[in-house]
Amino acid sequence: MNQQGHMASYGQPQPGYQGYHQQQLAYDNQHMTGVPPPQYGPYNGPVQGYQQTAVPQGPLRPVPGSAPTSVPPSTTAQQPVYNQYGQGDVHNGPAVPEQMQRVPQSQQYMPGNTLHSGSQPMPYQQYAPSLSHAQQLPNQMAHMQITGVSSNSASPVSQGYGPPASRPPAATSLPPVGPAAYSAAPQNIPSSTPQDNSLPQHPFPGQPSPVSTFSSPPTSIGLTGVIHPPSVGMQRPPTMHGQPLPGQPPSGPYPPQPNHRSLGPQPGMPGAIPGAPTQGFQMHPAPNQGFVPQQNGSFAQMRAPQPNYAAPSTGAPNYSSQPPPQQKRLDPDSIPSPIQVIEDDKSNRGSEPFSTAVRGQVPPLVTTDFVVKDQGNASPRFVRCATYNIPCTSDMAKQCQVPLTTVIKPLATLPADEAHPFIVDHGETGPIRCNRCKAYMCPYMQFIEGGRRFQCAFCSCVTEVLPHYFQHLDHTGKRMDYYDRPELSLGSYEFLATVDYCKNNKFPNPPAFIFMIDVSYNALKSGLVHLLCEELKTLLDFLPREGNAEESAIRVGFVTYNKVLHFYNVKSSLAQPQMMVVSDVADMFVPLLDGFLVNVNESRAVINSLLEQIPEMFGDTRETETVFGPVIQAGLEALKAAECAGKLFIFHSTLPLAEAPGKLKNRDDKKLINTDKEKTLFQPQTSFYNNLAKECVAQGCCVDLFLFPNQYVDVATLGLVTYQTGGSIYKYTYFQAQADGERFLNDLHRDVRKVIGFDAVMRVRTSTGIRATDFFGSFYMSNTTDVELAALDCDKTITVEFKHDDKLNEDSGAQIQCALLYTSCSGQRRLRIHNLSLNCCTQLADLYRNCETDTLINFFVKLAYRAVLNNSTKTVRESLINQSAQILACYRKNCASPSSAGQSGSLDHFRGRLAVNRIAMELQSQTGQLILPECMKLLPVYLNCVLKSDILQPGGDVSTDDRAYIRHLIASMDVSETNVFFYPRVLPVHKMDVDGDDFPVAVRCSEERLSKGGIYLLENGLNLFIWVGMSTQHDLIQSIFNVQSFGQIDSGMATLPQLDNPYSKKLRSMVDVIRAQRPRFMKLLIVKQEDKMEVLFKHFLMEDKSSNGGASYVDFLCHMHKEIRQLLS
Ligand SMILES: [Zn+2]
Repeated sequence: MNQQGHMASYGQPQPGYQGYHQQQLAYDNQHMTGVPPPQYGPYNGPVQGYQQTAVPQGPLRPVPGSAPTSVPPSTTAQQPVYNQYGQGDVHNGPAVPEQMQRVPQSQQYMPGNTLHSGSQPMPYQQYAPSLSHAQQLPNQMAHMQITGVSSNSASPVSQGYGPPASRPPAATSLPPVGPAAYSAAPQNIPSSTPQDNSLPQHPFPGQPSPVSTFSSPPTSIGLTGVIHPPSVGMQRPPTMHGQPLPGQPPSGPYPPQPNHRSLGPQPGMPGAIPGAPTQGFQMHPAPNQGFVPQQNGSFAQMRAPQPNYAAPSTGAPNYSSQPPPQQKRLDPDSIPSPIQVIEDDKSNRGSEPFSTAVRGQVPPLVTTDFVVKDQGNASPRFVRCATYNIPCTSDMAKQCQVPLTTVIKPLATLPADEAHPFIVDHGETGPIRCNRCKAYMCPYMQFIEGGRRFQCAFCSCVTEVLPHYFQHLDHTGKRMDYYDRPELSLGSYEFLATVDYCKNNKFPNPPAFIFMIDVSYNALKSGLVHLLCEELKTLLDFLPREGNAEESAIRVGFVTYNKVLHFYNVKSSLAQPQMMVVSDVADMFVPLLDGFLVNVNESRAVINSLLEQIPEMFGDTRETETVFGPVIQAGLEALKAAECAGKLFIFHSTLPLAEAPGKLKNRDDKKLINTDKEKTLFQPQTSFYNNLAKECVAQGCCVDLFLFPNQYVDVATLGLVTYQTGGSIYKYTYFQAQADGERFLNDLHRDVRKVIGFDAVMRVRTSTGIRATDFFGSFYMSNTTDVELAALDCDKTITVEFKHDDKLNEDSGAQIQCALLYTSCSGQRRLRIHNLSLNCCTQLADLYRNCETDTLINFFVKLAYRAVLNNSTKTVRESLINQSAQILACYRKNCASPSSAGQSGSLDHFRGRLAVNRIAMELQSQTGQLILPECMKLLPVYLNCVLKSDILQPGGDVSTDDRAYIRHLIASMDVSETNVFFYPRVLPVHKMDVDGDDFPVAVRCSEERLSKGGIYLLENGLNLFIWVGMSTQHDLIQSIFNVQSFGQIDSGMATLPQLDNPYSKKLRSMVDVIRAQRPRFMKLLIVKQEDKMEVLFKHFLMEDKSSNGGASYVDFLCHMHKEIRQLLS
């Protein structure tokens, strides 16, 4: 084996590797120029296959055993069969119920089950150079260029980068803080929304569509037509959540104040107008009971009470230290409340399953827990739209400015009680498709001529039905096998792809995972390397598996690096791992192939031995410099050589300053903020990584990046390849294994185990009239239609914008089909199809009635965060405000006037009327009312959260890296993630119902909603706080923190003590549940009222004025009102 030979001379590439070198791109090529031919030409139809990629020459050969192991599709062309069936659904399943099985899925991530740090201690194997392996580690060590401490990093020991670990000083750059915040989702679906049960079964276009529009007026809210009604007397009893503490004295030094209580105007109470009768909320003297329902002001009066809100209590001077009330301020209680909207949706729509049978039906909010039944359209878990009624003409669309957009999460994880997409096998001819536009068979295709042909719902072309697919039609024109075929009756399903859909017309090899570990000084010092190596020993047992497969088909490889790279041979036949050092990082090559990528079970002993040795080998390193570009190149070359797709897990700690391709310099400059040059902070500092990303995508090489920086590392540049290959970035600033290990290991576990597809291409087809024009997310595009993803996992979404290219028809509606071609974790080539049909409208009122603000915000965020690459943040903010104002002004003008109300016969615009208190009324009389569409009444509050986010309006305490990091995360967030990220969830812990499963109803995200006698949990998907009020009952403090008083609470605790009482148990279980709901592990921070950490906490109270100049909700609403008036006048 020539491998031995290579090992002798690490410093230089071997002649035999020349084949590799020529594959390297010239790095000065500007990316995007010279766009390569689309990788998947055939995607549009199994054409000639993929562009041939150069196969490495030279001594490299595919690893033995790497032959395709994927199962070719069944070739029983005459009898297409489903490989798998989802469980339980007779309608769609096969005739034989006992064959029903869940579709093979890669191993599911099981929340709560993720941490496996208790790994079995591996038998310690002292590394001993075995004579039979002359090239083993110690020998290799000699080749390592341990250069000692470099001059510019004099004494790493004394690095003074901020406080260690994850508790930097208050108000300085906290870790991955994603400051902006926000939550809930809006929009009130009329309770009369048609639900599935009563619906006929053939609601697709082309088929009789019984219910396609909502005709009944909304009924969920009492409509009186009164705009500013007195609200006195309208209270409903509050919902009681939680129960009083045991032994809670009814009175004491600090009576329990679960809520503020509203009294007369208090100094500092916004909204209170001195001397003015408070119309918006009610005096409520119920002292110790808390739970004063919010009188929901006069906005949409007669709404259910605002749970949990109340004003500051008597005796307890307003907790808030806000300035005295300004004159002419809106009462915060009278303006639309996210909590109210969320709670209304839960109670209106949470109980019934959501059937997707009806075209254009707006699903429940992402904050509502509901069950989905796929009856012909994709579940909202896969596809969500900003509007479910598309205007028929582009003129209408321009007039209203509501973006036509969908957020697609193709591989979303479904809850256990919902069927996973079935896999359909159409035999060796491949999936049935339209001859012209290549759309895949779906419920919208109409069979004609007795079933011999079908007409495409997307392009109207008529296609012959292949003999093996022929089926007679019933008297309604429906195929007799309608319910037996997922592709005829369901919104989402998968096709097995044939070899025509594979690169080089060859079924793919199973993918590989390569772990690439920074072993420079910082990584060792922080405990990262020890922790990681220990964890990998057990984590490797949890690689994604196909269905019930006994073991994962994924092979693994290991690389460590600092200024040079170390490859490891972990072939099962070896007694000890072998290391090979490549120090010529300028021209990266892989010094071995055989033994680099291995099956975990076969090589377990060698791998464990390696993982034992790595921390020791580098334990004394003084090397502080690292490379980065060559690391990705090495992984890429290894995958190329093995002819497979895969993922690189890179664990990296510093700015790559060492001389190598992709070397970076520190160019951080916060003085650029708010200047025209601010955008450069988000741009990569070199085009090197753009080019590298392109190569990675072509190979199906996804890069996940785990960063452990103690200072600026240029996330904007380092993250670029990750960004364009569909990977994930994790960032642990000031990482210390002790303090941050839990978060890192949980993230790592979830990341390694999650459902993922490789080497993917997504195409979105639409019916005539609209087309997909823009895409947002972590991917690469080399043409205007194909979204190329080196990998796509279950957490990633792609937001798509559509534009008109013709008129749409109200009768036929608009259809969208998203097709994702990918390689599964076992190497099976598949297509996942999602179909969605929408209504089209000629009345703008219909559009405004069928909107979803959460999805709209998701789109706006992605639009804005991309725009900062080329525009100043000020410009971006202004354009967001402008578009939103136009949306609302158009409603005001066309849908909210009495005349248009009469025409549409609907009263729903009344519901959105922003009723106002006395001062606001004056404002209104001079200027006209602010009237918001019901489904968009939260647009202002959420928009404000976006505008004051750290990307668009950063405070001085946010680091450049954190901004780049957040920008990256947001790009692939789904609607529920952006929702809670921008408007965080604030749960009153003191109101927990310790006997039930429910969470207490959230309070609005504002300081004035917090009681100093309460404890609150705040989360936004990335951050998790428990805030403790100074006057919290001692009993409650004892029950939760196991100390006797507020003063004794240790705010440095990383976990809550495990106490055997219902409060402790319930709170810890809430924390667990919340963590399991989010894709990233949230570290818990305890914040005591008036503690210095409180500054950080307040950063997330999004309805308040922010320290970086962001407007309060009330102020912003007034501003929007002004903008709208200007547009109308
Ligand atoms: Zn077609």
